[in-house]
Amino acid sequence: VTSLWCERVLVGGEVRHDVRLVADDDGRIADRRDGVRPEPGDVRLGLVLPGFADTHSHLFHRVLRGRTHGDGGDFWAWRSEMYAAARRLTPELYQRLAVAVFGELVENGWTAVGEFHYVHHRPDGTAYPDHDMELALVSAALEVGIRLTLLDTCYLAGGIGAALSADQHRFGDAGAEAWLDRWHALRSAIERATSDAPDLVTLGAAVHSVRAVPPDAISAVLAGLPGDVPLHIHLSEQPAENAAAESAYGRTPTALLRDLGALSPRLSVVHATHVTEDDIRAIAEAGATVVICPTTEADLGDGIGPALDFAAAGAPIAVGSDQNAVIDPFLELRGLEAGERLRSGRRGRFAPADLLSAGTGAGYRALGLGQSAMRVGDPLDLVELDAASSRTVGSRVEQIVLAATGSDVVSVHVGGRRVHTRGSGRAAERYATVLAEFGDDASGDRSGARPGTGNA
Ligand SMILES: [Zn+2]
Repeated sequence: VTSLWCERVLVGGEVRHDVRLVADDDGRIADRRDGVRPEPGDVRLGLVLPGFADTHSHLFHRVLRGRTHGDGGDFWAWRSEMYAAARRLTPELYQRLAVAVFGELVENGWTAVGEFHYVHHRPDGTAYPDHDMELALVSAALEVGIRLTLLDTCYLAGGIGAALSADQHRFGDAGAEAWLDRWHALRSAIERATSDAPDLVTLGAAVHSVRAVPPDAISAVLAGLPGDVPLHIHLSEQPAENAAAESAYGRTPTALLRDLGALSPRLSVVHATHVTEDDIRAIAEAGATVVICPTTEADLGDGIGPALDFAAAGAPIAVGSDQNAVIDPFLELRGLEAGERLRSGRRGRFAPADLLSAGTGAGYRALGLGQSAMRVGDPLDLVELDAASSRTVGSRVEQIVLAATGSDVVSVHVGGRRVHTRGSGRAAERYATVLAEFGDDASGDRSGARPGTGNA
């Protein structure tokens, strides 16, 4: 039995002292006592926060970090460089890159990740024999010890009414039914691959966007997926997606989803940057989660989404690292608050406790993982933080989310198991070898860059 004793725990906006946590066989919290002394054999920790959920990641975009900032350009120019990186992925390279990215995630305090995965097939669109790309991600998560929700993504069209481009062939399936068949077969394959650690990997689902999946296919996905499977979708990241939906369907992407019955508590809408007041109301009333990706939205010049308006309307807010130009839960949460401050000219738009719950509990729920609130039954996923570093010393613990960075992570536990200790991370050395295989021209050929209608 794993037992942990924490000097201080910050959860729900409050600091608790002398907290003892005991894990059950599934790595969930079986018992919690506050105000108790440690017992022999307890792992002793200092300041502890619940584990952070990176609710939206495309891990292979990490290849572009620090390589695409020199030539200006826009989202569409960046996307053509991203496609060049996607062309190079093999199952073996994807697995090694995933080990490095998942390692960087854990080193910085993310304990769970929702990988929005669409690189399913070979570059020519033919299938791998046994879910090779998906099982590469599963194997990487098991190696690193991060909790993975694999959001296998339905991606059928290159735009509304447009076929997949040559670069997009490997993302596609023959149709919604073919995608559903593959999804169900994948679920069995994952069960076989994770029999030793059944709770660590969850199969979720995604619809890429309303431009990449036609309305009848979205309906088929909704009908064919079990009701408890989390479903994610890119929504209104770029104004061009809204214009295309208005022109084809006479309504916003959100209104289209509402009319298809897609808006529900199981749905997470990613970005929701360019939305109307009606859109905000419809998403909030349905109980869908809004996933904001502050560092990516800033990096790609998407704009600042109305996160506070969503929160005021009652929608849960979660955060994601998306293109992984930054991997740091504290910087995402600060970016969420910073956007609101820059827009409003006022401070304290999101309370520190609300930022923490966006990074922890809301993200876990959106990934189908229950809570991350250190209650009995929650996954025993937690992050130990250095409260005396040059960044954090002097901070009030309740506000430490606005002072710390991933560099202040001392140790990380997932399912009660220690998966990282500061100074022992291997992400950098793993990147050094795997990134070299993408060469100096990961940027690829820019001639394909052209205005499109949304979402990477
Ligand atoms: Zn995305």
